[in-house]
Amino acid sequence: MNCKTGAIIVLSGPSGAGKSSLINKIEDQIGEYYFSISTTTRGIRDGEVNGEHYHFVTEEQFKEDIEDENFLEYAYVHGNYYGTSLKPVKEALKNGKLVIFDIDVQGHDAVQNRLGDITTSVFITTPSLKILRDRLSRRATDAIEVINRRISIATKEVQRISEYDYLIINDDLDLAANTLVSIAKAARMKIPSMEISKFIQEWEEDS
Ligand code: ADP
Ligand code: 5GP
Repeated sequence: MNCKTGAIIVLSGPSGAGKSSLINKIEDQIGEYYFSISTTTRGIRDGEVNGEHYHFVTEEQFKEDIEDENFLEYAYVHGNYYGTSLKPVKEALKNGKLVIFDIDVQGHDAVQNRLGDITTSVFITTPSLKILRDRLSRRATDAIEVINRRISIATKEVQRISEYDYLIINDDLDLAANTLVSIAKAARMKIPSMEISKFIQEWEEDS
């Protein structure tokens, strides 16, 4: 019996906390999912692929998308625009998929307001600010000024942990990934993510 209507899992946390690493690690353990590829005006990093990690656009194109109401939510983060396209998310939910968002605290707010009943939210962070700095430096994708800006924003972001359903402290990557798999599986079982009346009807019919 399939009564799934789709569910959302929002992952937020400081840049460098390990969100992308965790998603990569769990992707073959959580069933059918759609990872929402955001649109951004930030520059492309070494190793990133346009259309895979982000849709990289100019500020002008981004503003056109805002005008055309193409975004479920968008925010100005770390000096760049980031936005979630509405259409593919609607489509994935219609197909009963788990939709994964890697978005900041502002985006989480917006998704909670619009789709809170089917949303499970997870805040991911490093065990300490020092470890965050070390990981951002080791990742070596950002200039020192960019890293400093991300660190300063991180101290504000962690103040909002209590707005989330779950906290994952990403110390050991395998342990953190196992926890995220459990949360993702539970997210799919949220009651509003199911067509309960259809379930009850089919349950009664099979008497
Ligand atoms: P985010 O997507 O949150 O910005 P990344 O997944 O890019 O973070 O991780 C930032 C850096 O930290 C990467 O170089 C990644 O390999 C490393 N990293 C992620 N998780 C761990 C961990 N548990 N222990 C050590 N290094 C980690
Ligand atoms: P990065 O530049 O490191 O890829 O991402 C910077 C921040 O932007 C991260 O906190 C990430 O979660 C957030 N972000 C990425 N895409 C979106 C989006 O579509 N909307 C919002 N609100 N934040 C996003």
